Amino acid sequence: MSTEVSRLHVLLCGFEILEKTVSTRDRGGRFILAEPVSAYLLETARGHVLVDAGLNSALVHDPTLREEHYTKRGIRPPVILPEHELAYQLEQIGVRPEDVSHVILTHMHLDHAGNLGMFRHARISVQRAEHAYAFSPDRGPAWFECDYDLPDLRWDLVEGDWEAMPGLEVVLTRGHTPGHQSVIVALKETGSVVLVGDAGDLAENFTDEVLPGESVDDEAALASIRRLKQIARERGAELLLGHDPQLIQKVRLAPESYA
Ligand SMILES: [Zn+2]
Repeated sequence: MSTEVSRLHVLLCGFEILEKTVSTRDRGGRFILAEPVSAYLLETARGHVLVDAGLNSALVHDPTLREEHYTKRGIRPPVILPEHELAYQLEQIGVRPEDVSHVILTHMHLDHAGNLGMFRHARISVQRAEHAYAFSPDRGPAWFECDYDLPDLRWDLVEGDWEAMPGLEVVLTRGHTPGHQSVIVALKETGSVVLVGDAGDLAENFTDEVLPGESVDDEAALASIRRLKQIARERGAELLLGHDPQLIQKVRLAPESYA
């Protein structure tokens, strides 16, 4: 297998406290889950690549900002402990934020774009449709403009499927949001893994083909779930679900890694 990716680190960035129906449409209405928030750091021949940027803890820890971003919008503030901080985790694996040359966003919801301000020097790849929607008045409460409306961010607006380098492919998996994308990583020892993003939060979304709680296009969201299952089948790849509370316990978390 030809790949320029040498290592994958899974970064656990905190826990969101939410109704299960946020992840599984019309299913599990009685339950509240503590869902992990994940981001990923890749070591590659072309430098360090971050996939998603976690949560902005300042918006949780400052009472005024918390009120404005969470309480007023009817969103429970997430739990972000010191060991969940992105900067701390990068430090644990010996990487400085300025070492990250490329950020790939699966989408721009609050739990995926939280620390973009740390990566103003990096290229930030996101689907053009996602970027446009994030700045449109139609977006819902889960979009925190203050995290991504920063004048000096170096946006790289992509469209459709694309390849960042051999062993690092990105596929359009729209539906949950207008320009959601998922990342396929080829590793020499581990094989292929798919960083699903929020195309499906829980294993159940894939095994039972359950729609995410929120989608801008249900048909596309279902097609994306099926497409990722097919990719996993064809390549013998593992689906890495960033929000699944059970699966996260089986994952090797940073500072450990996959090669
Ligand atoms: Zn999410």
